[in-house]
Amino acid sequence: MRMPLIAGNWKMNGSLSLVEEFGRAFAGVSLPVNVEVALMVPFPYLGVAGQALGETAVTVGAQTLSDRPAGAFTGEVSGAMLRECGARLVLVGHSERRALFGEDDAAVLARVQAALHEGLTPVLCVGETLEEREAGRTEAVVLGQLEAVFEALDTAERSRLIVAYEPVWAIGTGRTATPEQAQAVHAALRERLARYDETLADGMRLLYGGSMKADNAAELLAQPDIDGGLVGGASLKVDDFLAICQSAG
Ligand code: PEP
Repeated sequence: MRMPLIAGNWKMNGSLSLVEEFGRAFAGVSLPVNVEVALMVPFPYLGVAGQALGETAVTVGAQTLSDRPAGAFTGEVSGAMLRECGARLVLVGHSERRALFGEDDAAVLARVQAALHEGLTPVLCVGETLEEREAGRTEAVVLGQLEAVFEALDTAERSRLIVAYEPVWAIGTGRTATPEQAQAVHAALRERLARYDETLADGMRLLYGGSMKADNAAELLAQPDIDGGLVGGASLKVDDFLAICQSAG
């Protein structure tokens, strides 16, 4: 039985007052007991988010990390620092990191390994561009990104990951994959994971991300291989995010 996870990705958005607002809102509601909720906030807000959400069921996470443990890497943030500041999860390989910051599969793998080393849960993001989808390459791209990481890990390490399928053409565009499109890719991901290990595939949480909103979350989350959502824009509005969390229960 896979516990659904709804993870908000604030990207480079938000403010201290928004963190406080989320803290108050989540303290005042009861979330479905069978749903896990996480909020991936910008680095400077991690500590405050940990305090504001500390009395709630929401886990705090980060959006990236360095692949190095420490040293002369100006501007970088290590996994150990994230952990010390309260993060428990970290996004790795988000399409914005891949496209805008040149993170290739090797860089993504190094960050997954750094996160695992520090006891963080990596949320590995995979997804195809519109051009790749239209060229019929969706599965090849997505499974390639998955394998670039999973091939290098052992069974125990693999079981500590969460995977998020995020079609690049659906991120921040308002254009959501249909439930059938998303389910087809999730099923292909799970089938590929089963080649490593059936138990791993059965237990692995596969999140969908890409313009998930309060009004389309339920039908996406009802798909058999969709185990939660990675939510960008809609995670910045507390009512919308809460509604998505409720619809996962
Ligand atoms: C994301 O950035 O991970 C994302 C899914 O964004 P949005 O929900 O805004 O498409």
